[in-house]
Amino acid sequence: MEQSLRRIGSAGNQTACLINVRAVKQGVNEYMLPETDNRWAQLKQEMREAAQSLGIDKIGVASADPFTELKQVLVRHRELGRESGFEEPDLDKRTNPALLFDNPQSIIAIAIAYPSKLQNPPKSEPGARRGILSRSSWGEDYHKVLRDRLAKLEAWLRERVPELRVESMVDTGALSDRAVAERAGIGWSAKNCSIMSEELGSWMYLGEMITNLPLPVDEPVTEGCGECTKCIDACPTGAIVGPGQLDSQRCISFVTQTKGFVSDEFMRKIGNRLYGCDTCQTVCPVNRGKNWTHQPELQPDHELVKPLLVPLLTMGNREFKERYGSSSSAWRGKKPIQRNAVIALGNFKEKSAVNDLAQVLREDTRPVLRGTAAWALGRIGGEEAEEALRGALPLEGDEEARTYIERAIAALETADI
Ligand code: SF4
Ligand code: SF4
Repeated sequence: MEQSLRRIGSAGNQTACLINVRAVKQGVNEYMLPETDNRWAQLKQEMREAAQSLGIDKIGVASADPFTELKQVLVRHRELGRESGFEEPDLDKRTNPALLFDNPQSIIAIAIAYPSKLQNPPKSEPGARRGILSRSSWGEDYHKVLRDRLAKLEAWLRERVPELRVESMVDTGALSDRAVAERAGIGWSAKNCSIMSEELGSWMYLGEMITNLPLPVDEPVTEGCGECTKCIDACPTGAIVGPGQLDSQRCISFVTQTKGFVSDEFMRKIGNRLYGCDTCQTVCPVNRGKNWTHQPELQPDHELVKPLLVPLLTMGNREFKERYGSSSSAWRGKKPIQRNAVIALGNFKEKSAVNDLAQVLREDTRPVLRGTAAWALGRIGGEEAEEALRGALPLEGDEEARTYIERAIAALETADI
C-alpha cells in the first residue's frame, strides 16, 4: 500500500509524529489502526497546547455525526413559534454536518472568553441617563474576533496537515454553536440556554470548524446546573419556558434587536437596555466573580457600552457607523438602538428629556420612532409632555404612530402612567 507520510509539528520536547496524508483525503478507515490513532491523538494534544498562543481559551473536538436529537427539539421549537427568525431556516443543515461539508470527520469547537464587568463605569443619573449594551457586544464584533482565531487555528493545522479541508462557522453559520460546543466538552447546556463551563462561566463566544481530520473526540462535561433555577426565576419576561428552552419571541435580547413597534409590556421590561439582555447570565452563581480581561479586542469602551441616551436620539448615520460600526450591536442598524434609547428615557421618566422626545415625535421621519416617543412622553407625563402629544396628534399621518399618541394622551388623562 502506497503511503504518503508527512511530518507534523512538535510542541516542546514532544516527538514529532507522522500523518498519513492519503488517508486524510480518503476518510477515516485507515485511521482505525492503533498507531495512526495515536498520531491523531498527538496532533490533537499539540493543538490543545497551542490553543492559548492562538488566542483561544478553550478547545474541544466533537464527532461530525448528525445532531439527531437537536433536530427534534428544533422542529418542536418551530411548531410552537419560539424561533427568533434570525436562524438558518433549513433544519437539516442546522443538524447535519454532512450537508455542509464533503465527508466531515470531526468538528473542532473553540471558545473565547469576554469581560462581564465595567471598571468604574460612568454613572447614570437624573439629567444624564444612560443605557446599556449587552456584554456580548462589548469591544469588537465577536464574529470578527472568532474568525481571526479560527483562521489562526486553520493556519496552524495546515502547517502540519497540508491536505486539511475546513469549513469555519461563527454564530451565523448553519450549525448550532451550542450543540457543537456541548458535544465537544466545552461546557454543559445550561438552563439559561447558554453553554456553561466551570472555568469560564457562560461569558464565552463559540465558534467551530468542520474538518476532514479524524481527530479523537472529547467527552461532554459531566457538570450541570443541578437544582438551581435562578436564571429562570430572574428572567423578566418568562422567556425561559423550561430548562434550556427559550421562547425567543419573549426574550428581551431578541426584542431589542427588532425594528418595529414594541408592545407596552415589553417596553416597560426593556428598562434601559439598548441592545441585548444579560440578566439570566448575571444572576448565575457559576458566573459569579468571572470577568475576562485578557482578550484585547473585547475590552469595552465605557462611553460606547453605557452611553448617554439623549445624544443617541439624533445620531446621524455617519456618527453611528464611526461609533458602533465595529460592534456586534450595529448589525441591525441604528434604528433599534435609537428606539430603545427612547424607551429607556420613558422608563427613567426623565423629565429633562421631554423636549428631545417631543422633537423626535414632531420631526423624526420614522413612524416607529415617533410612536415610541409618544409612549415615552406618556410615561414621563407632565404638562409639557401632554402639550407635545396633543400638538402632534393632528399632524401624525401614520396610523400606528397615531394610535400610540392617542394611547399616551388617554394614559395621561387617566394618570395611568
Ligand atoms: Fe430572559 Fe433576558 Fe435571558 Fe432573554 S436574555 S431569557 S429576557 S433574562
Ligand atoms: Fe444553571 Fe443556575 Fe446558572 Fe441558571 S442560574 S444557568 S440554573 S447554574
